[in-house]
Amino acid sequence: MLLPAGVIAAYSQLGTVFTSGKLSEEAWIHRSTAKYYINKIVVLRIFSKIPHRRKYQKYANARTFSDWLKDMVRLAIHPLERGVEIVPVKRKSRGRSKGSKGRSSMVQCCICGEIVPRDKAKKVSRRVSLVDSRLFKELRQRGAHISSRQETRYYCVSCAVHRGVVKVRARDKRKHRRRKR
Ligand SMILES: [Zn+2]
Repeated sequence: MLLPAGVIAAYSQLGTVFTSGKLSEEAWIHRSTAKYYINKIVVLRIFSKIPHRRKYQKYANARTFSDWLKDMVRLAIHPLERGVEIVPVKRKSRGRSKGSKGRSSMVQCCICGEIVPRDKAKKVSRRVSLVDSRLFKELRQRGAHISSRQETRYYCVSCAVHRGVVKVRARDKRKHRRRKR
């Protein structure tokens, strides 16, 4: 058996988002035991950890453990058995923009300090003026040249989502690659 029966039974009792304390309560196990199984389960991709929080999340439609198992069989195991080499990926680019290039240089996230590949990180660049915008307008009208510097920041994916640099989009809107201007 993959997991103890108590944990499998408790899985269906949990909400979409839950904590390790909730699992220990539902499965009648010690909190540290619940944490042990949670770590194991995250590796097995039965559910995922929510970044920045001590909370965990079930995958879509996988309300019970058997739902998850059915999805696993349908999406990953059946195509393999049919000889089709389909790896279910969420994005064609796998969230990266490097293509077939092997490795890209690393940058550091400006929030959490994580080292992320440059092509995976979300880059935000903006012009920062040394004077405030009202004064800037006034001075420019008088013909003064004010230099401003370019500030570039890199965010790791979880920080970018957390800060709203990139947003979770509806399924039909995920395909749009460029923002409309
Ligand atoms: Zn970060």
